[in-house]
Amino acid sequence: MRTPRELRTRYAYMWEGYNIGISVPRGWIESFATLCVEIDELLGEDKRGFHWVQVKEKFGTARFYWHMQSPGPTHIDDQSPHGHASFKNASSAGEGHSESSLQQRIGTLVASAEKETAKRCAMCGAFGNLDSTGGYYLTLCSAHSKQRHDNTLQSMWEWGQDE
Ligand SMILES: [Zn+2]
Repeated sequence: MRTPRELRTRYAYMWEGYNIGISVPRGWIESFATLCVEIDELLGEDKRGFHWVQVKEKFGTARFYWHMQSPGPTHIDDQSPHGHASFKNASSAGEGHSESSLQQRIGTLVASAEKETAKRCAMCGAFGNLDSTGGYYLTLCSAHSKQRHDNTLQSMWEWGQDE
């Protein structure tokens, strides 16, 4: 099992530069670790200043915000102010070597990782459903959902706040 600290050591450049908080619930660390590995492989030798801007939980799903430097004068930076690229037709992009294609591919990886966390318990990573006990949405497996209902649920941030 990997931890945010291990990931930060392994992929230090992803934690460099400006960020407003990188917190990963325990159950989603595997999804996040896989995402880091995939992006690292996609970037190759030149990391292009890629880094996480914010990682958080919202409405039961992880949000992974990132930023990457513009490599040259012809590049158009089409990311939002929060550094979160969203591309609707990324999978149909055909230009394998262009920088915008690289950003689209990262955007696709990030979107699919976020989608995966919507189905995973934030505590343990098992299959989960959206739980709204207490009015705050969390994706939890049945066992952790019961714990939450019984008010015995531990913090899902145990690993996420070791910045
Ligand atoms: Zn669970």
